[in-house]
Amino acid sequence: MLNRFDVIIIGAGAAGLAAAGFIKNRSVCVLERNEKSGKKLYITGKGRCNVTNDCLPADFLGSVVTNPKFLYSSVYGFTPADTKELLRAHGVETKTERGNRVFPVSDKASDVIKALYAHAQSSGTRFVFNERVKSVKHDDGKFTVTAQNEQYVCDKLLIASGGKSYPATGSTGDGYAFAKSLGHNIVSTRPSLVDMNTEQNVSSLAGLTLKNVCVKIEADGAKYSQFGEMLFTHSGVSGPTILRLSAYVNRYSPPLKLYIDLKPALDENTLDKRVTEDFAANANKQLKNSLDALLPKAIIDTVLAQSGLQTDKKVNIITVRERAQLVHTLKNLRFDITSLGSFENAVVTAGGVDVKEIHPKTMESKLVKNLYFAGEVIDADALTGGYNIQIALSTGYAAAKAINEGER
Ligand SMILES: Cc1cc2nc3c(=O)[nH]c(=O)nc-3n(C[C@H](O)[C@H](O)[C@H](O)COP(=O)(O)OP(=O)(O)OC[C@H]3O[C@@H](n4cnc5c(N)ncnc54)[C@H](O)[C@@H]3O)c2cc1C
Repeated sequence: MLNRFDVIIIGAGAAGLAAAGFIKNRSVCVLERNEKSGKKLYITGKGRCNVTNDCLPADFLGSVVTNPKFLYSSVYGFTPADTKELLRAHGVETKTERGNRVFPVSDKASDVIKALYAHAQSSGTRFVFNERVKSVKHDDGKFTVTAQNEQYVCDKLLIASGGKSYPATGSTGDGYAFAKSLGHNIVSTRPSLVDMNTEQNVSSLAGLTLKNVCVKIEADGAKYSQFGEMLFTHSGVSGPTILRLSAYVNRYSPPLKLYIDLKPALDENTLDKRVTEDFAANANKQLKNSLDALLPKAIIDTVLAQSGLQTDKKVNIITVRERAQLVHTLKNLRFDITSLGSFENAVVTAGGVDVKEIHPKTMESKLVKNLYFAGEVIDADALTGGYNIQIALSTGYAAAKAINEGER
């Protein structure tokens, strides 16, 4: 059976749902491989969905890591304030938390999905679930979309099939193959906002959280640093600072050098004075028992091992040189990153459809007329904080607006 529509959208995630609701006076069909829409949205923000970041577009673009200039028009065209308004129009009030992160008041991602689904339905969109698209072809100005159950024909095609992170949600990177088959270049895809594995065995530190530290990574001569919280896992490091750093360093090939400044508020001289005071108060103790006021207990052995100091040495015979070694290590605790985590647990995919081949105002392909892209399938990604969903919504809106304004 052949199904004809003005517009077909592949994917009922944030981008596909946003676009569907904004397309007016055209027959629209969304093809979704899952049994329902928004499966990835459901797990966002730890089930609470950090749906956007309450900031002005200019600040927003400062948190976009890859291709912020490309997103300029779309983010100004559909802003974080517009997202809040859209949700409100469908009965979902939002609240703003630390770092301008916006969540539904209910703390339920499912409410955001319901609102976006209602928005999509409001324009008469037809949904076909359990329908995985296998291939797309473009002939004589029409697109033929072959899916697992049926074939579809449309005048305009929007690929909103997401990236390939957390593949269990349905986002397995199919969109890249469709774009490639239509002539597009795909910038190599890498896991981003993801944990990192270390050369050093850190399993004894697993679960330890370090707050108010400064983590630095050196890669090919470039230096990146982030301040805040990090934690150790069984195989390496994770937590907010590490995830943010991964967004910048995923383009480099490991090994990468990672340094933790455990006392970023103190310069080496001030820290040396502080250590000297602690030593004076613990003069007859062994070194390993003298640092409890300075460091979490779990990390003391690691710090002393890297300092090259004997842990059982009495504090009152520590030399000035040894103390300097300790202070240096406290400011530069080093780990070697052997790899970044996989797509299985990356929050977003870096890379994707090359933005050089997409019109930034309309999200239309520069190579194939009436072909559009929206969301994570595009080579654009941002830090954590609600930016990535907003990119999906803004690019979905831009595509819908262009489809509305285009010829029939
Ligand atoms: C654990 C986790 C937490 C996150 N938390 C946040 C957060 O709090 N805030 C934030 O801004 N971002 C967050 N993100 C990122 C954010 O979820 C994504 O960037 C965003 O959902 C991308 O939207 P999208 O519509 O482009 O793609 P998706 O939401 O991935 O939707 C794509 C849809 O296309 C469907 N599809 C794929 N291939 C086919 C095919 N061949 N045929 C038919 N259908 C297909 C998929 O099943 C899917 O439903 C998080 C991501 C993860 C993994």
